[in-house]
Amino acid sequence: MSISIHMNPDLFKIRKDFPILDQKVNGKPFIYLDNAATSQRPQQVIDRMNEFSHRFNGNIHRATHFMANKTTEAFEESREMVRNYLNAVEPAEIIFTHGTTESINLVAFSFGEAFISKGDEVIVTEMEHHANIVPWQMMCERRGAGLKIVPFGDNGVLDLDQIDKLITDKTRILAVTHVSNTLGTVNPITEIIAKAHLKNVPVLIDGAQAAPHFSIDVQALDCDFYAFSGHKMYGPTGIGVLYGKRKWLDLMPPFLGGGEMIDRVTFSKTTYNEIPYKFEAGTPDYLGAIGLGAAIDYLNRQDKPMIERYERELLLESTLKLKQIDGLKIYGEAPEKAGVVSFNIDGIHPFDLGTLLDQMGIAVRTGRLCADPVMDHFGVENMVRASFAFYNTVEEIEALYIALIRLKAMF
Ligand code: PMP
Repeated sequence: MSISIHMNPDLFKIRKDFPILDQKVNGKPFIYLDNAATSQRPQQVIDRMNEFSHRFNGNIHRATHFMANKTTEAFEESREMVRNYLNAVEPAEIIFTHGTTESINLVAFSFGEAFISKGDEVIVTEMEHHANIVPWQMMCERRGAGLKIVPFGDNGVLDLDQIDKLITDKTRILAVTHVSNTLGTVNPITEIIAKAHLKNVPVLIDGAQAAPHFSIDVQALDCDFYAFSGHKMYGPTGIGVLYGKRKWLDLMPPFLGGGEMIDRVTFSKTTYNEIPYKFEAGTPDYLGAIGLGAAIDYLNRQDKPMIERYERELLLESTLKLKQIDGLKIYGEAPEKAGVVSFNIDGIHPFDLGTLLDQMGIAVRTGRLCADPVMDHFGVENMVRASFAFYNTVEEIEALYIALIRLKAMF
């Protein structure tokens, strides 16, 4: 395959790191454009996880033997790598979960138990993934609180003025996505956090679509919680992260009970462990955490500003190309956008498009993209979504464009 060395001189090397990309699907060169759903893993992550599967296994934190020490050490090393990746103050503020969904559920439950009462309010936005809506709805129902929504305009930009109007003295927390998984919008979270903090409202950031692509500094952002998933940032499935400021985590009750989260158990009373263990009940996915550490190590070895520039080029190129297709509508054209392009083509069902593209070896996402309110905003049932990673090429975007032209002619 030819490569666009002019934009990313390391592309050839990077593609070699991802063995899954070098194969045929349905007899055609595999083109993977579903990175917002899950990203592929470099050989370095696979090797690290294989090494542990082959040579080291012992349940963490609970034994004094060699195997348990090996896995415990690697698990805690990964926590330190995540701390460093997010620039958190201390490793205790990094909680391993199973993914963004669990991280947000943890905060909605535990923060809700500690700080939300009848008549209080929670703010989310219209562009959230269901994982950043439903846990808050469940908590609001349990605690008798209300949910308020920050709307976005047809260009996919949040109406920030509404935030000032929606925050009242009853607002207890604001939850917003860093990058929208449907519209690609990169939200001005620094500004949003500052607005909320001005009124003493803490902020949770859903970073599922941002952590793989941008440098994150939770201290500079001053966010109260930041959640992301390993499998979207070139790591394994089953592992995720919740960053939380100690001042909140210390005051929040545990989410799940059992295992490492206890200090002392008696039938009359159980006391709890310190953070982060208070929130890590049961055997965690330590192999997953070790794999996530390897993914972070891999990312740290890349030229991050170059990757950001290159992914922006991929977005610009794909937007430019797809717009040339008659009857194709792109949803979300915010000036600050990540590598996500959601669209429909007049007269072609998105599922037909997805299935036929798959036959051409091209993987895109189709459906409601776990964002029903975004579908409702635009009055559509489904969308097609192409999403990019730094191993994608301009040639792959060209192939998508040509495939769509062919399919349009077919219908
Ligand atoms: N939030 C956003 C913005 C997402 O894109 C996703 C994954 N599609 C999630 C949350 C949920 O992530 P996970 O399924 O890994 O828990």
